[in-house]
Amino acid sequence: MSANISSADVANSPSQSKQKYNLNKLQKRLRRNVGKAIADFGMIEHNDKVMVCLSGGKDSYTMLDILMFLKKIAPIHFDIVAVNLDQKQPGFPEHVLPQYLDSLGVEYKIVEEDTYSIVKDKIPEGKTTCSLCSRLRRGILYRTAKELGATKIALGHHRDDMLETFFLNMFHGGKLKSMPPKLVSDNGEHIVIRPLAYCNEKDIIKYSEAAEFPIIPCNLCGSQENLQRQNIKAMLQDWNRRFPGRIESMFRALQNVAPSHLVDKNLYDFKSIKTQDAPVADGDIGFDPPSFDTQPTAEEENDIHIVNMTEAK
Ligand code: SF4
Repeated sequence: MSANISSADVANSPSQSKQKYNLNKLQKRLRRNVGKAIADFGMIEHNDKVMVCLSGGKDSYTMLDILMFLKKIAPIHFDIVAVNLDQKQPGFPEHVLPQYLDSLGVEYKIVEEDTYSIVKDKIPEGKTTCSLCSRLRRGILYRTAKELGATKIALGHHRDDMLETFFLNMFHGGKLKSMPPKLVSDNGEHIVIRPLAYCNEKDIIKYSEAAEFPIIPCNLCGSQENLQRQNIKAMLQDWNRRFPGRIESMFRALQNVAPSHLVDKNLYDFKSIKTQDAPVADGDIGFDPPSFDTQPTAEEENDIHIVNMTEAK
């Protein structure tokens, strides 16, 4: 059973009807975006067993909710198993996820591993604990996927996480690199997917509030979110306020890369460039300033693209 936010008690006042309409639109948009990402990147195949990593935050609840809906309407068969890692952080409300998952009737596993003590033991007070914690968590999730026979591992990162990572890598790592929507795990054994790749965080926040997911706070370990990521997030939010459409344009850029117009000699063989008789398809005009066509925003594009899975409903 996925969250049915449209069935909330709605009286007949115009503002409540409008609210219901907006929530319906939001739910449809999120489902459509997830369906489109799954189709575009071949994330889920027939007979896959998808291990949905559930942290108890808004993103992973939303991902599980939408995947459960798509499972019902998809033209292919796939199974879902939700997995939560209880890292034994002080104050972790152990009963919340089992209660919620029981109510959904979804297969799940809670893995209990005290990574909190390991991290506290190994990392000096005041230092950032996230990198060791993430490494430990990753290893445990890979092991769990193997034990469960999962063929895909689904993570709840969304479009805005991907953009933040892109700028983090560019500003601090000297790399043009984001978070891939689909990848092979670093140990080579698993396929990791990010079904929320086309979903924006604002939609997820609104959806999660409307669906009243039982959110577990993410600061139980006492660690702060990486300061550099916080700065990038603030920068993007500021751009979004001052230049509407810029975030959508940047995300389109990640899907529209021109290696011949970057400076990576390993990606494009500049040395072998030769003149040719026919005009070059998409060739550079060289001497003229660039011009920019008006492109539809991602949301407009989403309204144009109807995803097969959602259409089947
Ligand atoms: S915020 Fe806490 S739980 Fe999350 S990765 Fe960092 S140390 Fe681990």
